[in-house]
Amino acid sequence: MEKIDILSLSLDELTSEICAMGEKKFRAKQIFDWLHMKKITDFAQMSNISAQFQAELSKKFCLNQLKIKKRLVSNIDNTVKYLYGLSDGEAVESVLMEYNHGNSLCVSTQVGCKMGCRFCASTIAGWVRNLEPSEILGQIYESERDSKKTVDSIVLMGIGEPLDNFDNVVKFLQILSESGFSLRRVSLSTCGVVDKIRELAKLKLGVTLSVSLHAATDEKRSGIMPINRRFDLKTLMKACDDYFTATGRRISFEYSLIEGVNDDDNSADELIRLLGGKNCHINLIPVNEVKERSFRKSRSVEHFQKRLNNAGLNATVRRTLGADINAACGQLRRDDMAT
Ligand code: SAH
Repeated sequence: MEKIDILSLSLDELTSEICAMGEKKFRAKQIFDWLHMKKITDFAQMSNISAQFQAELSKKFCLNQLKIKKRLVSNIDNTVKYLYGLSDGEAVESVLMEYNHGNSLCVSTQVGCKMGCRFCASTIAGWVRNLEPSEILGQIYESERDSKKTVDSIVLMGIGEPLDNFDNVVKFLQILSESGFSLRRVSLSTCGVVDKIRELAKLKLGVTLSVSLHAATDEKRSGIMPINRRFDLKTLMKACDDYFTATGRRISFEYSLIEGVNDDDNSADELIRLLGGKNCHINLIPVNEVKERSFRKSRSVEHFQKRLNNAGLNATVRRTLGADINAACGQLRRDDMAT
C-alpha cells in the first residue's frame, strides 16, 4: 500500500487518520506540531510519542523532504536562490530575500506552467505537474533549515500559476494557517484566472492578491499573456473590485516594464485610465531578460513611475535583490534541465 504524504494533511485530516489508528485526538495535534511547528524530518524526533507508535506512523505515512540541488547566494544582499529536487526527479525554485521588515520567501506552486506568458522562463517547456501541499510547505521548511533564518512572509510568485493548482494551494494555505502563520503575511500572484479569483474571494483567507497585469489594453495584454483571451481586462477588473469588496484586502498589480512593448507614455496613460481612482498598489518591475526570449529591460522605469505618480497612482519600483545571481523566474530550472 502506498504511504500517505503526512505533510499534506490538514489538522482535521490528520486527526481522522490518527483516530482510525486507535489513538486519542490530542495525539494528532502533538504530531501536527512536530511536523509544522518544530518542523522535524524524522518520526524518531517526536519525543513525546512512544517508539512503538513512531514505528506505526512510519509504516503508514511518508515524511517527504526536498533536496537542495543548487544554492546561489548573492554577495550583494544575501538573497539566496534554491533549486529544490522533488522525489520524482523534477525540480522547482525558491528565493529567500531579506527586507527591513523581515525575511520573505518566494515559492513555486507547479513544475512548469501552462499559462504561456511570453516573457516568462517558467512556461517555455510547458507544464509538468502540480505541486503537492507538502512540496510547497517543504520549500519553506528546507529554506529555514538551510539558512537558519525564519521566514516572515511568503509570496506565491515562483514557478507556476497558483490558481491553476487551486485545491493544493488552498490546502497549503490551510495547513500554514493551522501552524500559526498569519495568512495576512502571504501574497498570491496570478496572471488573472478569474473564475478562481472569485472562488478564492469566497474563502476569505486574508491573503493579498497580486495580479500580473503588464499591459492595460486587451490588444497589448493578449499579445503577451494568452490568459487575457480567456478573461479580458473588463472581466478581470470586475473580479478584482469584487475581491476587494469581499475581503477588504487591497489588490497589488504587477507591471513588468519591457522596452518598446509596454513602457511608453501611451502605455502609462492607458494604465492610468484603467486603475485611476482604485484603492490599489502598482509594483513596477524592470523585466528580467530571459535568454530564450528577445524582450529587453525598459530604460524608462523612473519616468514611467513618475507619470503614474503624477496622476495620483500609488506605484513603486520593486527593489532588485540578488542582482549578481540574477536568474529570472524559472531560469534556474531551465538551465538545470539543459545540463
Ligand atoms: N503565475 C503567477 C505567479 C508566478 S510569476 C503570475 O503570473 O502572477 C510571478 C511574477 O513574475 C508575475 O508577475 C510574472 O508575470 C512575473 N514575471 C515572469 N517572468 C518575468 C520576467 N522575465 N521578468 C519580470 N517579471 C516576470
